Amino acid sequence: MQSRERLKQSETMSDLYIIKLGGSAITEKEGNKFEAREKTLERIASEIKKASAEKGFSLLIVHGVGPFGHTNVKEYDINNGINTERQKEGLEKTKKDCAFLNKIVVEKLKEAGIHAVSFNPGELILQENKKIVEFDINGIEKALGERKVPVLFGQMVPDKKLVASVCSGDASLAFLAKKLKPKKVFLGTDVAGVFTADPKENSEAERIPLIDKKNFEEIIKKVGEAKTVDVTQGMKGKLLKLREQLKGTESFIFDANQEGNFYRALAGKKIEGTEIRL
Ligand code: ADP
Repeated sequence: MQSRERLKQSETMSDLYIIKLGGSAITEKEGNKFEAREKTLERIASEIKKASAEKGFSLLIVHGVGPFGHTNVKEYDINNGINTERQKEGLEKTKKDCAFLNKIVVEKLKEAGIHAVSFNPGELILQENKKIVEFDINGIEKALGERKVPVLFGQMVPDKKLVASVCSGDASLAFLAKKLKPKKVFLGTDVAGVFTADPKENSEAERIPLIDKKNFEEIIKKVGEAKTVDVTQGMKGKLLKLREQLKGTESFIFDANQEGNFYRALAGKKIEGTEIRL
């Protein structure tokens, strides 16, 4: 597609919401098990459907993969290049496991009546030293134009220097937000936003209602990495990626495990969380 046509299409994306389903909410990340939380997925899918039926926004969904990615990446040591036979084997296993989780997510979304279509980042993205250098978004834009709901996920992708590397759901999301300029980005995770310390470690931690240009640097010092098997720096990685790419796009981080939160957030009702305006 010519860039002018693409721009025209991006401009019509003003009713687009991009949603992240955090790996910590939709998998047994905390227990480090290769399991999807199917009941949670069903609930979230029906909440998304309810809000979209009421509001009529377009939707793009990116989900994390929890242990399906992180545990494999650690186990097979494939975060810094693929050289040995064991690493090659690990790469294939990780790609398969992440795609397997994606199949479950897409199924649950479809069961709720959402017109979900899977896009495998491994087939669309090229990285160089773990950074996205090419991302073919033509198919995604076309699907959005047809009012379908593209679903992407954390995945191993080809890498010019490392053979393959991790491209987290957060990295794809940040890239897509920059290109598609959605009205808002919603990040559902397993804590109620960004806190002054990891709320799972420190009961005194206080929620930060708003992160903007003024307080970003001070906050990033306080935000830790996830305590689970996360190779993409957890909440800290998330905020750094958002700052790099999300300039101007509003986003909101909230607890997706809390029943009703996804619906309320998307429907524009007030819930606890952290607004991000950078
Ligand atoms: P997801 O898998 O849902 O995308 P991550 O695991 O990447 O989420 O990041 C969320 C995790 O970050 C939380 O489970 C929490 O334990 C951890 N975390 C570390 N520091 C903070 C903080 N200051 N505020 C909120 N969460 C934090």
